[in-house]
Amino acid sequence: MITENKSDLELVRDFHRVWHPCTQHKDFETTPPILVERAEGIYLYDRQGNRYMDVIASWWVNLFGHNHPRLNEALTRQLEKMAHVMFAGITHQPAIDLADSLVALSPPELEKVFFSDNGSTAVEVALKMSLQYWQEKGKTQKEQFAYLKGGYHGETLGALSVCGLEIFRNKFEKVLASHLPVEGPDCFRCPYGLQRESCNAECFEPMEKALSENSDTIAGVIVEPLVQGAAGMMMYPPVYLKKLQTACESLAIHMIFDEIAVAFGRTGSMFVCGAHDLRPTFLCLSKGITSGYLPLSATLTTDEIYSAFYGETRKLFIHSHSYSANPLACAVANETLKLLTENNFLESLKPKIAALKEYGKQFDSMEGEFRQTGMIAALELTKKKKERFAAEKRVGYQIFLEGLKRGLFLRPLGDVVYFIPPLVITEDEIGVMLNTAHDCIDAILK
Ligand SMILES: *Cc1c(COP(=O)(O)O)cnc(C)c1O
Repeated sequence: MITENKSDLELVRDFHRVWHPCTQHKDFETTPPILVERAEGIYLYDRQGNRYMDVIASWWVNLFGHNHPRLNEALTRQLEKMAHVMFAGITHQPAIDLADSLVALSPPELEKVFFSDNGSTAVEVALKMSLQYWQEKGKTQKEQFAYLKGGYHGETLGALSVCGLEIFRNKFEKVLASHLPVEGPDCFRCPYGLQRESCNAECFEPMEKALSENSDTIAGVIVEPLVQGAAGMMMYPPVYLKKLQTACESLAIHMIFDEIAVAFGRTGSMFVCGAHDLRPTFLCLSKGITSGYLPLSATLTTDEIYSAFYGETRKLFIHSHSYSANPLACAVANETLKLLTENNFLESLKPKIAALKEYGKQFDSMEGEFRQTGMIAALELTKKKKERFAAEKRVGYQIFLEGLKRGLFLRPLGDVVYFIPPLVITEDEIGVMLNTAHDCIDAILK
């Protein structure tokens, strides 16, 4: 479906002026970006009228489809009243409503909501709150964070300092604060030879050791619960998180859940922590919170943390952003939460989750692994990573190009092809998505 975009004046202007995220611009010499003109439901439409299924929900964010009438209406209703106002010394109804709803939907211990405007910042806020908490408590030596070697928490320097993935860190290593990387779960290549469905998270051992040996200096531990997204949709069982909770509670270590990708129905429940009876000290949220409409994020925490900042002026938490709790974003988030909680919406995901599983069976004959957590599915193409799919071969990029030809907007992570469509995708469309992806992969791997 790639047409003669190259001659398109807008794309020439884009090429000369715009620097896109995570993009090797030289690729645009042969394959320019898709100039999306409108989007509707789960589809993106380019200028020539070509249609692409938004298989990755525009990087996890889009839950209810593009151009949703109710979200549009919530936005315009708020727009008529107020677009933006600063959030220090001022408050507004959309933010109050949203804070109330987030607290009501999350585990009972989480009582306070701090708003910011992107996922990385929600993480920065949790890290800073944790550090300051220990300072206020006189435990000034608690200054480092444990994180998983497959963990991803955003790309600003603070968030990057607790990212375990070399590809994001290596150019900046020298300026990153030094924290404590810990070997985490790798169920597909389990070193203990166990299955994620039946194991007892034996791989918690290195974390247990790291936390108990360093509990005097560790402020907190940060994890992506159940799915390590950027690492290649590495999925691991909740028992790991149970063990983490037990360790954190006994060692006075904050447990920071980065649910930026997995919250708001993505795994089939509102939040991973709530669904598995886990009690994080901090819960970082963003991505799906406005269903892909506007930037917004929130860091939830406990009264225990909040109270350490309460009182004298010198204790205040200094972290401010111009667009904190933007009223338009909060209004759309409130409507998103309504959509997620009414008419048994989460229940209605069950047949879709089953359809992902069913259509996923067609990949069983491949040598890799098809895995799934709720509405997240991923196909890792081989166990022998380095040999067959060396980075130079760019298998993921080839599959991406093949997808475009067939009307799928895929964005493989190396040799992991993943599927996180808007939650409103139908069972039939799930079939089309996985069948077409299979064709793309066949075409490339042949
Ligand atoms: C996307 C993501 C972030 C960063 O969010 P941004 O809004 O892109 O800064 C952090 N953690 C996880 C798990 C994510 O998926």
